[in-house]
Amino acid sequence: MKQRINRIINQGRLKRLSKRLRQVNAWSASCRALSDEALQAKTAEFQQRIQQGASLESLLPEAYAVVREASWRVLGMYPKEVQVLGAIVLHDGNMPEMQTGEGKTLTATMPLYLNGLTGKGAYLITTNDYLARRDCEEMTPLFEWLGLSITLGFVDEPNYEYAPGEKKAIYAHDIIYTTNGRLGFDYLIDHLADGQEGKFLPPLNFGIIDEADSIILDAAQTPLVISGAPRLQSNLFGITKMFVETLKGEQHYDMDDKAKAIWLTDEGVEAANTYFGVDNIYDAPHFDLVRNINLALRARYLFESNLDYFVYDGEVVLIDRVTGRMLPGTKLQSGLHQAIEAKEGIEISQDMSAMASITFQNLFRQFDKFGGMSGTSKLGEKGFFDLYGKVVVQIPTDKPVERIDHPDLVFKDNVSKNEAIIERVCALHDINRPVLLITRTAEMAEYFSMQLFERDIPNNLLIAQNVAKEAQMIAEAGQLGAVTVATSMAGRGTDIKLADGVKELGGLAVIVSEHMENSRVDRQLRGRAGRQGDPGLSQIYISLEDYVVQRWGKSKLLEEGQLEKISSQGLHESQLFQRRVRQIVARAQRVSEEQGIAHREMGNEYEKSLSAQRDIIYEERDRVLKQWDVKQMALSELAREVFQRAYRTQDLNTEMNLRNYIYQHISFQYTGDVTDINLNEENAVVEKLAMLFEQRLAAQQRLIKDNYMFMRFVQKSILKAIDSNWIQQVDHLQQLRGSINNRQNGQRNAIFEYHRVALASFETMREAIKVDIINNICQSVATFDKKGDLVVHFPN
Ligand code: ADP
Ligand code: MG
Repeated sequence: MKQRINRIINQGRLKRLSKRLRQVNAWSASCRALSDEALQAKTAEFQQRIQQGASLESLLPEAYAVVREASWRVLGMYPKEVQVLGAIVLHDGNMPEMQTGEGKTLTATMPLYLNGLTGKGAYLITTNDYLARRDCEEMTPLFEWLGLSITLGFVDEPNYEYAPGEKKAIYAHDIIYTTNGRLGFDYLIDHLADGQEGKFLPPLNFGIIDEADSIILDAAQTPLVISGAPRLQSNLFGITKMFVETLKGEQHYDMDDKAKAIWLTDEGVEAANTYFGVDNIYDAPHFDLVRNINLALRARYLFESNLDYFVYDGEVVLIDRVTGRMLPGTKLQSGLHQAIEAKEGIEISQDMSAMASITFQNLFRQFDKFGGMSGTSKLGEKGFFDLYGKVVVQIPTDKPVERIDHPDLVFKDNVSKNEAIIERVCALHDINRPVLLITRTAEMAEYFSMQLFERDIPNNLLIAQNVAKEAQMIAEAGQLGAVTVATSMAGRGTDIKLADGVKELGGLAVIVSEHMENSRVDRQLRGRAGRQGDPGLSQIYISLEDYVVQRWGKSKLLEEGQLEKISSQGLHESQLFQRRVRQIVARAQRVSEEQGIAHREMGNEYEKSLSAQRDIIYEERDRVLKQWDVKQMALSELAREVFQRAYRTQDLNTEMNLRNYIYQHISFQYTGDVTDINLNEENAVVEKLAMLFEQRLAAQQRLIKDNYMFMRFVQKSILKAIDSNWIQQVDHLQQLRGSINNRQNGQRNAIFEYHRVALASFETMREAIKVDIINNICQSVATFDKKGDLVVHFPN
C-alpha cells in the first residue's frame, strides 16, 4: 500500500518534470544548428541576461540544451532524457535517485553550468579526493569550452602548504569540484582568520552532493573537528572505571540500548556518593567526576569489544557502525576513547581539545541551495526530508534493469554459509563469469581470498589499498573470469563495465556474504551489477551468526540451546525455518536502521545549540572583519558596560579593589589617584574608569601612529577575544554533551537540560568576550615585523 502511494507520488513528480524536459528538448534542434562559436557565445549571452534580471529558472531549458549539445561536441556524450530529468531535480535543490552507471557525473554538469553562470560559485561535492579529481578532470574540457572557469577545490598533494591568496584564487572559480571533508575544513579555517586578508571562502551559493546518502545521512553526525592543544588529561579514568565495575544492573543503572544512553538510578547515585565520599555528585564542583562516571558507564556497558571496536596492538580501533569497516586513526571524542582504553586496561592516549567543529549536516545548511544524488536516496527519504526538507524523485533508468536480485540464501551458521559461498564462486568461475564477492569486514575478505587461492582461483583482494588503486581494480571486475573480493565501500563511485562475452554468460555476479547494517548499503551493493541495462545477478547469504543478528537481533531461536536443535540438513529442507531466519535477519536490520535514525536525531538535537551559537559568533566575526572604522566599533560604550558590571560584581567601592582592577584590566603602570571621587557612587567610578580607558586607547594610537594599523590593532584585539572564548566554548559544549545524561538529577529531560546549560554558558561567554576585548586593547603590545606588518602581543 505504502509502496503504491509512493509510486503514485513519484509519477506525479515525474509528470511535472517531463513538462520541463520537453522545454529543454524544444531547444535541441536550434542548438544543434549553431556553429561552435555561436554555441560558445551562449554563455556570455546568458550571463548578460542574468545581469539584466533574468531568473535561472527561465534560462534553464535553453541552458541545459546548450550543455547537452556542447557535451556531445566536446565529450562525445549526449545527455539522455533521464539525465536531464535528474538535472532539473538538482536545480530545484532536491534529490534525484539515479542508479549506478546512469551517468550522474554528466547529469551534474547541467545544473553546475546554470548556477555557475552567476559567478557566485557552484560546487560538486563528493566523498573522496580521487573521485573529485577524476570527475573534475573529465568535465574540465566541457566547462572550459563553454567559457566557465573550473577547478579542483584543493591541491592534491599530501600536506600541501597553501600560499597566501592561493585558496582565494581557487574559490573564485565558477565551478569547483571538491570533497565534503575539504570544504568543511576550509569553512572552519576561514572562520579562524584574524583579518580580511586571511578570508578566502565566499558565501556558499549552490552545491550538488554526489553519493548523497553516504555523505549526508551516514556521515552527517560525524563532526569535523579542528583540534587544538592537548587537553589537560583527567586522572579520573582509572577510578571511575573501577567504580562502575562495582555496579549491579537495574539496581544501579538503567539503559536504553537503542538510544545508546545509560544513566545511574537513584541507588546508583547513592553508591557513587558513598564511593567517592561526596554529598551529591551532581553538585557543581563534581562536574568532572560526573562526566567521567558517565564516560566509564558508556564505555563499559554500551561499547562492546569486537562489535564496536577491536583492541589491536595495544590500541582501540573503532568499527564503523554502518559498514562494519575498521576505522584506524579515528577516535571517539571528548574522553570516550580514553574511557574505553581504561576499560581495556591499555595505555591511555592523549585527548585533544576541540577548537572548531561542524557537522556535515550544518555545513550543507550554509548553502543557499543544494541538491544531492545517489543510487539509493529513496530509502533515506525520511531522513532527507526531516533534516533538510528535501524530496527524493526516483528517475527511471534509461534502459530497463536486467539484473536478477535473488532472495536471500539461508544458513544456520557461518561455517556452512562460507562453504556454500566458496562453492558458488567456484561454480561461477568455472564458466568464466566474473564475480564480485563483498564482505562486511576486511578479515572476511582476506579469508575468502585465501580460500579461493587454495582452490587455484586467482582473485583480486580489495582491502586497505588507496582509493585510486581500488577504483582501478574494481573497474576491472567485469573482465572474463575475474574474481574480485572486496569490502562494502571499496571502489564506490566507479562503475563496472562488462568485457566482451560477459553478457552472454549472464553478466557480473554480485555475491554478498551477509546483510549490512542498513538496507541502503545492501542496495548499493546489488547495484554494482546490471548497469545501463546489463544482465547480472545479486545474491545475499545469511545465517543466524551474522553481525546484524548478533548485534540487533532478539529472538527465541537465538536463545541458548534452541539453535542446536536444528540440523543444517533440516534447515535446508524446512521452508518454515528458512522463513523464520529471513524474518529474524530482516527484523535485526530494521532495528539497526531505526537505531541509526534515533542516533542521528539525537545528534541533530544536540547540534542545535552549537550551531545556533556558531552562527551568531561567525556573524559577529564577519561584522568585525568588515569594519574599517574604529569609531563605528563603539568601544567607549562597551567599556562602560564592562566597568559597570565589574563595579557591581567585584566590589570596586574600595580603594584597593579599584586599584587592583585598574592594574589588571587597564594599565599596570597606573600611578594616579583614585580617591578623588566618591567610591560609593557607581557612576563616578565607571566614568573614571572610562576616562582611563580613553587615555589608554589614545596612548595605543599614538604608539601605532598609522590610522589603518591602529584599526587593524583594534580589530585583532576583538577577534582574539572572540576566538579564545569561542574555542573554549566549542570544547566545553562537546564535553557537556558527554556529561549530560538521561534522567539524571530529578527526571529532567536530557536534551532540554543540555540546551539550558549551553545557553547559560553562552551568555557567560559573551560577557567574558567583552571583558577580554577591553583587556586586549588596553594591555596588548603592538610591534612591527621586518616587513612592516603589525604584530600584536596579547596579554594572555
Ligand atoms: P554513476 O555516477 O551514475 O554511477 P557515471 O557518472 O560514473 O555513473 O557514468 C557511468 C558511465 O557512463 C561513464 O563511463 C560515463 O562516461 C558514461 N555516460 C554517462 N552518460 C552518458 C551518455 N549520455 N552517453 C554516453 N555515455 C555516458
Ligand atoms: Mg558516480
